[in-house]
Amino acid sequence: MSDLNDLYQEVILDHNRRPRNFHPLADASHSAEGYNPLCGDRLTLYLKVDGNRIADVSFEGAGCAISKASASMMTDCVKGCPVADANLLFERFRRMVTTPTDCEVEDLGKLSALAGVREFPARVKCASLAWHALKAALDRKDQTTTE
Ligand code: ZN
Repeated sequence: MSDLNDLYQEVILDHNRRPRNFHPLADASHSAEGYNPLCGDRLTLYLKVDGNRIADVSFEGAGCAISKASASMMTDCVKGCPVADANLLFERFRRMVTTPTDCEVEDLGKLSALAGVREFPARVKCASLAWHALKAALDRKDQTTTE
């Protein structure tokens, strides 16, 4: 049996305390908003896509430790990445947090700190919020945001 304390591992607490890439992006080419009504997490994700690469990424918003840490780690992972790799990582992350708890999950390095949400179905949305915002922003490739 695990409890909520296991969920808040050191890496999650650290990213919550000192979120990376936590600021608006003035010259963003894409953005998307994420809202998780179950928990009240809100975030805006900004991307600067240059050709097929994510040149820069940032986010702002307010939410629980899990949502903020997940957004922080996600931006760290996809910054400088080809768009195709970011899409792939989205799929792998989604698979990790939705895999039944009695099954093995793929090791996603630091992101594996968030695998614990599998045991807390209400928190899965917190962990995946930023990733869905990333996907939404990337899927609207031809749209330049006016926000
Ligand atoms: Zn939350």
